[in-house]
Amino acid sequence: MFEDYRGVWVFIEQNEGEIEGVSLELLGAGRKLADKLSVPLSGVLLGHDVKGLCPEIISYGADQVFVVDHPVLKDYRTESYMKGVIQLAEKFKPEIFLYGATPNGKDLASAVATDLSTGLTADTTMLDVDLDNRLLEASRPAFGGNIMATILCKKHRPQMATVRPKVMKALEKDNSRVGKIIEEEIFLQEEDMRTKVLKIVKDITKKARLTDAHVVVAGGKGMGDLQGFQLIHELAETIGATVGGTRDVVEAGWLPHEQQVGQTGETITPKIYFAIGISGAIQHIVGMKNSEFIIAINKDPNAPIFDVATYGIVGDAIEIVPKLIEQFKVM
Ligand code: FAD
Repeated sequence: MFEDYRGVWVFIEQNEGEIEGVSLELLGAGRKLADKLSVPLSGVLLGHDVKGLCPEIISYGADQVFVVDHPVLKDYRTESYMKGVIQLAEKFKPEIFLYGATPNGKDLASAVATDLSTGLTADTTMLDVDLDNRLLEASRPAFGGNIMATILCKKHRPQMATVRPKVMKALEKDNSRVGKIIEEEIFLQEEDMRTKVLKIVKDITKKARLTDAHVVVAGGKGMGDLQGFQLIHELAETIGATVGGTRDVVEAGWLPHEQQVGQTGETITPKIYFAIGISGAIQHIVGMKNSEFIIAINKDPNAPIFDVATYGIVGDAIEIVPKLIEQFKVM
């Protein structure tokens, strides 16, 4: 009965006409799955006045794009987006359907999975397929990160997963790729919506989210205490960076969990990553090792963080960081 379900789909999340990075990463991951299964890769795009994004979606690896364009879809709402996605899924029956593990992606995927009575693996960090059984193998850390669990959806279709940003790689953009654009009509009326978007409040801190930041200043227990950790904030402020930290500092209450880098936090790939007073435990390293430049400051010359660092400073962070701040201020 699953023979009717074919194709790998990626939900393309867009914000005010800009595609979220995770959707491009998922097109890269989806391309590999689709090639293994010998099926097309489709992008699923909802919004208002968004058709112009289709060539970009194709240039990142999609064979085709399903577009639902409607004024009611201008801003994300569970109700309206769910309706559009379900209409498409019921009509075209994808075998695998991937979403970014963003707030909206998680919200939509769980609502769609419930409506379609299928399974959903949340917060996946690895994807593969068992070709013999055409099963998606979605792996994610479980039991506080102590094991990697591979979750299969054997009895229902589509097989769905949300995937963490920054763990998959987008393909190189290739404008010569050709693909199909399939426009789907939907009946939606503003009066039928049970929720309304009254106002969108932008983050006034102007700080990039940890996963989007080009420069991250991360601190560890080596900063001593909450007061010492203020130096991390000060350095970040001076150079316009985003603050990150280890699980130990989050557990100490010096930072909120959203700022945690590592296996049970965020996986990030900034251009510059400062690791200050961080020992370099494997659970931390997995979340930041692909940063372009890693600058480590630690008073222990044998700290494992130096094994992944591009530049290392051996010394007391409480003395070094104020000097760095001073230097950056005069630059
Ligand atoms: P420590 O390991 O205590 O290191 C402090 C470092 O600071 C030391 O290297 C010390 O030499 C240095 N130092 C001390 N004083 C100074 C000074 N004045 N100047 C300069 N250097 C100084 N951790 C994460 O970060 N992210 C995760 O997602 C994560 N997930 C985990 C999941 C599981 C299942 C488990 C078991 C652990 C996880 N951990 C995670 C915890 C991880 O194992 C480490 O305990 C943690 O990363 C250590 O944090 P730290 O480097 O801040 O502290």
